[in-house]
Formats: sequence, structure tokens, C-alpha cells
Amino acid sequence: MIDIKAFFKLTYGLYVISSKSGDKLNGYVANTAFQVTAEPPQIAISCHKDNLTAKIIKESKVFSISVLEQDADLGVIGNFGYNSGKDKDKFKNVKYKTGQTGAPILLDSTIAYFDCEVVDSFDVDTHILFIGKAVDSELLDESKLPLTYDYYHKEMKGKAPKNAPTYIKEEKMEETKKETTSNLGASFECTVCGYVYDPAEGDEAQGIPPGTPFADLPDDWECPICAAAKSEFISVN
Ligand code: FE
Repeated sequence: MIDIKAFFKLTYGLYVISSKSGDKLNGYVANTAFQVTAEPPQIAISCHKDNLTAKIIKESKVFSISVLEQDADLGVIGNFGYNSGKDKDKFKNVKYKTGQTGAPILLDSTIAYFDCEVVDSFDVDTHILFIGKAVDSELLDESKLPLTYDYYHKEMKGKAPKNAPTYIKEEKMEETKKETTSNLGASFECTVCGYVYDPAEGDEAQGIPPGTPFADLPDDWECPICAAAKSEFISVN
């Protein structure tokens, strides 16, 4: 049998993987990037076939990995994690540079990066595993901690985008969902990114104090992760 909860004990970081083909820049949030050999320095990434970036990496044979900091701007995660580059230019309003390989390297909320050339790839059903050889890398900020998926999930209340290799379907999550009803009313979940608004916690970043029921949020309040409207939220109880 498969115990879904066992998968929750695997640990991951959070990264923005970027590439460029022709004039098209794109990137996405990934939690799978891991070093596979030290000499040569090679890193593997797992990219959903439906992601525009997978197509771009196949064409260009290059990609960059930006390691996000623990206090990463939620707007950066929302921009790269919950939008498709088919509809928007994700690099339009972010700070980035062009790497040696030609891949764009996101610099916002980034503490280290790798610039890689694809040396091999494997078809793994829904995903493509790309093996990249790092031709350039840099530690940008020694003082900051890297963002882990666990921290993002537990402290920032985010969940994996649906194309992530580790995405768990909603119905499978039901049994692990805790009761959150209190006298403050229900918690509400963003149907776009999965962020859960907890009335007991409020939303400090947008000036919403702890103890604010969802119904009392201002009409122009937005999801702190993906900027979806209040109307995109549903009760989780
Ligand atoms: Fe959202």
C-alpha cells in the first residue's frame, strides 16, 4: 500500500528554475533540484511536461536555478509558481541577469544560483528529469537561510502548484485536513494556490490583525501568495 503521509517526510527546498529560448524567458517554482554528482558538478531537476519551461529547456538545453531565501517575497512565489508563462511575461517586473549559458537568473529573493547546461534528460511519465552541469554558480547572501518546502507549507501556508512532482490531489489531503472552525468562523482556502486564510492568524503583511473573520476582510483583500481575489476563496470546513 501507499501511505501518502510517508511522502510528507521527504524534505525539499524551493527554487525558481528559469530558461530562455529565442526571445521567450520563462521560469517556475520547483521543489525538486538536487545535486547528483560533485565532479563534474551536476544537478537534476524534475519538470512537468505541461510546463512551458520544460519545452523551453528542451529547445535551449540550458537552465538556471535560483535558491529562494526563507523570507522570500510571496509575490515572487505567486508570479513564478501560480501563473503560466503562456499568458504573461514572468520576468517583466523582477530583477534578473543573463547567465553565461544565456538562461535568465532570477535575483529577487535569491541567495544562491546555478547556471546549467543540460547533459542528459529522462522521460519519467508526467515529468522530464533534466540533468544539468553547472558552468557557473554563486553564493549571493551567506547570512540568509534557504526556504524549505516544509517552511513554506507550514509557516507560509502554501502548497505545491499542481504541476509539481510532489503535488498531492485534494481528495487525498482530506483525511489530513484539521478542523479549523472556531468562533472566528471557518478558514478559507485560495482555489488558485491553496493558501489558507486562518482568522486566528490574520494576514499581518496586509495589515489584517489576528482574530479577523474571513467575512470581515476588505473587498479588495487579495491572496498574499498569488493575488487572487477574495471571491476565489472557499471555506475549508
Ligand atoms: Fe492564492
